[in-house]
Amino acid sequence: MSLFQVEHSYRTLPAACYADCAPTPVRAPAWLAFNQTLASELKLPEQYQRTAEGLALFSGNNLPDWTLPLAQAYAGHQFANYVPRLGDGRALLLAELRAKDGKLYDLQLKGAGRTPFSRSGDGRAPLGPVLREYLVSEAMYALGVPTTRALAAVSSGELVFRDETLPGAILTRVASSHIRIGTMQYAASQPDPAVLPALADYVINRHYPQLWQQDNPYLALLQQVAERQAQLVAHWMSLGFIHGVMNTDNMSLSGETIDYGPCAFMEAYQPRQVYSYIDQQGRYAYQNQPAVAQWNLARLAEAQLSLIDPDQEQAIALAMSVLNAFPQYYQTAYRQRFRAKLGLTAPAQEEADDQLIADFLALLSAGQADFSQSFFALRQGDSVYLTQQLDKQQFSAWQRQWRQRLSQQTADPQAIMATANPYLIPRNHLIQQVIDQVSQHGDLALFQQLQQLWQQPYLQSAAGEPYSLAARPEQRVCQTFC
Ligand code: AMP
Ligand code: MG
Ligand code: MG
Repeated sequence: MSLFQVEHSYRTLPAACYADCAPTPVRAPAWLAFNQTLASELKLPEQYQRTAEGLALFSGNNLPDWTLPLAQAYAGHQFANYVPRLGDGRALLLAELRAKDGKLYDLQLKGAGRTPFSRSGDGRAPLGPVLREYLVSEAMYALGVPTTRALAAVSSGELVFRDETLPGAILTRVASSHIRIGTMQYAASQPDPAVLPALADYVINRHYPQLWQQDNPYLALLQQVAERQAQLVAHWMSLGFIHGVMNTDNMSLSGETIDYGPCAFMEAYQPRQVYSYIDQQGRYAYQNQPAVAQWNLARLAEAQLSLIDPDQEQAIALAMSVLNAFPQYYQTAYRQRFRAKLGLTAPAQEEADDQLIADFLALLSAGQADFSQSFFALRQGDSVYLTQQLDKQQFSAWQRQWRQRLSQQTADPQAIMATANPYLIPRNHLIQQVIDQVSQHGDLALFQQLQQLWQQPYLQSAAGEPYSLAARPEQRVCQTFC
């Protein structure tokens, strides 16, 4: 028998870490989506699942008494500029739920109204970004990438005002925690010196309790986060995922993908690809993601410095040793992901394998070929597609080398590639079609169909076929907005 288990551990932190705040009710809430599977993993009682009571909860209109809503405080570097006080301007942590897997998960409303951290914002979220986050975060989960998840989406029956007037919505997000690099930066900036160690201890207890065995748990924390970030970004790269806003307040200490704003899956392979409308300089371009992750980790190291060693020079030396190891962590993770995409297993031939990977990517780049479709074609042995997309002679030469390399291993490359090269990814133009159909016609059919197909992104199916293809030129969505 497993009972619904609610905790409020974040409230054990010093008061500076959060502000109590109730949601602002909305006029006419209505269901857009509810994630039954996730609800069951969280042991959410049936009375809150797709019921009137559930709608009241997930719109913020009437909260049950097991919730104690708060807005989390955090700082952050936005496009490299430090902002000392950001915080949850439109999100509220309702409670933490102990799930069937024994782990603790945050239950958070996003778009539930103004908070003490809203600054000039309205505390609301437009329908489009809510649908995008729901679809993409659940697709990422199915693709195997650590990520926050979506439990519910409801429309508010109210309008939000951006450059245009848009329908409003509220997303219920579930995460291992919402603690960001920016949360640690905020704690480090507090006049009360007890705040930083309290937060760091909380993070270790909640995410990395095994680190208490280490000589220097705070240094080990930095190292763990660095490894998780390296693995996460390598995973993104292997799927062509571009986060779009890798500010330090959008990087989770648990190593989950968080804050799906102007994110996108790359179509034509182009290392300098940027989709985000707000990223005019290309700071968060596809190929910059690992370097940005390392830059962000340096900001985390700075925040934690006083915990790492009382002697500042010694603390810097120790932190630098972790930061300098990041490229190695990343390289290892990247190589593992991309070798799987080519079906390569042991015995590894590091330099030769790296060259095979780089050469294939160079062919994609030269041919402006679709990243996911090309890797899927490799998985299927579909030389026809690849010969059409890529330089014929160069591809044949590459293919000979690749086959030569595969002949030296016993493992079946097909089986490996089938877990690394998805058939379906959440393509930008499809998400745009969903948003248009829901906001213009209230039609949820495409949303539901894609949501279902993207739960099994590695599976080839007739139903998925039209959604497996790159956008035609007239369908292309080249810019994404938050
Ligand atoms: P983001 O770029 O979405 O990660 O948000 C950066 C900061 O702006 C965070 O502190 C958000 O809480 C805040 N923010 C974003 N949109 C709004 C909004 N509509 N109202 C209030 N705060 C917001
Ligand atoms: Mg407070
Ligand atoms: Mg954010």
